[in-house]
Amino acid sequence: MSDCLFCNIIAGNIPADILYEDDKIMVFKDIYPKADVHLLMIPKVHIETLAHLEQSHHDLIAYMMLKLPQLALEQGLDNGFRTIINTGKGGGQEVFHLHIHLLGGKNLPGF
Ligand code: AMP
Ligand code: ZN
Repeated sequence: MSDCLFCNIIAGNIPADILYEDDKIMVFKDIYPKADVHLLMIPKVHIETLAHLEQSHHDLIAYMMLKLPQLALEQGLDNGFRTIINTGKGGGQEVFHLHIHLLGGKNLPGF
């Protein structure tokens, strides 16, 4: 997936402000933050959208969900946070590698 922006970040070809990484996922700062805290969590395997998840991704997506609250706390978001997954063009998705937005802190826009 050499033309995928997020695969290129995972490969180290494009720089990012990486906050967490393990064998399954990577978390980095959104380049155009919409709130004081705006992170993106991505799987290391290329999955286009939420709609492309398969049964074989069951453990991976559960792993990501369970990591989010932990990550939010580490960012000081002890009062709550917002998660967003834009899916497909109709859902406002711009980068077609599944990612979960984690937003919080001051300047959180209205929904
Ligand atoms: P979405 O509309 O859900 O596909 O969101 C894509 C997000 O990726 C947007 O919030 C962008 O600001 C963010 N983004 C685009 N390019 C980069 C990059 N090089 N590094 C970090 N975040 C990026
Ligand atoms: Zn990708």
